[in-house]
Amino acid sequence: MGQFLDDVPFSGIIRIRDMMYSVKDPFRLDQGDVSFDTPDTVKTAMHRAIDENRSHYLQTTGLPRLLELLAEKLRDRNGIPVGAPDEVMVTTGGIHGLFITCQALLEPGDEVIIPDPEWPPCAGNIKLAHGVAVPCSLHEKLGWRYDLAELESKITTKTRAIYINSPHNPTGGVLTRADIEAIAAMAERRGVWILSDEAYEDVVFDGGQHVSPASLPGMYDRTISLYTFSKTYAMTGLRLGYVAAKDAKLRDRMKKALFYTASNIASVVQFGGVGALEGSQAAVATFRDELQARRDLFYAGIRAHAGEIFSGEPPRGAFYAFLRINADWSHPSRKNESLSWAMTEYLISEGRIGCVPGVDFGANGEGYLRFCFARDRRELTGALDSMRALFSSADLPISRDVRHRRESFLPS
Ligand code: PMP
Repeated sequence: MGQFLDDVPFSGIIRIRDMMYSVKDPFRLDQGDVSFDTPDTVKTAMHRAIDENRSHYLQTTGLPRLLELLAEKLRDRNGIPVGAPDEVMVTTGGIHGLFITCQALLEPGDEVIIPDPEWPPCAGNIKLAHGVAVPCSLHEKLGWRYDLAELESKITTKTRAIYINSPHNPTGGVLTRADIEAIAAMAERRGVWILSDEAYEDVVFDGGQHVSPASLPGMYDRTISLYTFSKTYAMTGLRLGYVAAKDAKLRDRMKKALFYTASNIASVVQFGGVGALEGSQAAVATFRDELQARRDLFYAGIRAHAGEIFSGEPPRGAFYAFLRINADWSHPSRKNESLSWAMTEYLISEGRIGCVPGVDFGANGEGYLRFCFARDRRELTGALDSMRALFSSADLPISRDVRHRRESFLPS
């Protein structure tokens, strides 16, 4: 009973988080958490809900006012032809939306094509639903996008869905409208679902546009769209997400998974969600512009202080720098070792800099590190100064000291 959970690995993000708590004055570039405060519109609505004793059970799929606002948002901002508010349900963060979706959609052995690199809860939730995650490469030289022919070649008779995540964690790759149109056509032709994780929908840089697959003609019928308040409204700890799907049978199943795991989502937090959507949305653009400035600051610092060690193009979306560890820093004895874990351990222990080893995101991630640049400027500058101090040393200890420490940090 439950034995299959032994095959679902812990995410390295959890191990790193635990390591970071033992570091004094750390630079927390490891977690995907923004440094912005939750907007006052959210806080005021939550205060009011507490004062009015709105702390009781609610409708299973969500507070009616919140569902109404979400349906409106999905129509206006995403262009998805959502009909009634009951086509939307709220979840305990985006991760729970993924859980109930996989539970509702998958039969044992069903395949879901996922990106490699990928956000670990994606494969984890597919496995929890007894499905099979089939990785398909995102290519750095294509701006961390798919080779579309390769993607289609992964579709088999067992494929139930293609999971896409644009803008993408961990690489920051953004699929173009043409990519999304091609993937949609593929899904239609081959009769598979699209699971579209749009957690970073509001974080597209340099004037780029986010495209929701369900907004394309006919695609709402076969797309499950997943969202979260975590990033756009700086609400990571409050745990509020939502899912939109047209298929009523599928939604009934999702509703059961929702009820049996959460009964309903925290009432006060849902009122916070109403506050977020009823209030001005000006902060969303300010937030994106500030993240773009932080991206530029971080990459300029990397080029100046660690350009020999790390390389990579600034991402077009999300808020992660996914940097390649230059080949010079590999070692012949690396064959069965993880360079990204070794470098992560080195940065944490010697530089107090949190990051996530690329291998944690899948085979294609090995040799890379993920840094979150949504931290405030002081923290970013502190991390860059620390890197400068580490990497300006003529006698870099990486090939010597780190190598013998590697074994203990290999993913288990
Ligand atoms: N999808 C992706 C790709 C993410 O990176 C995250 C957060 N790291 C989420 C969904 C969901 O976040 P949350 O559970 O905090 O809403």
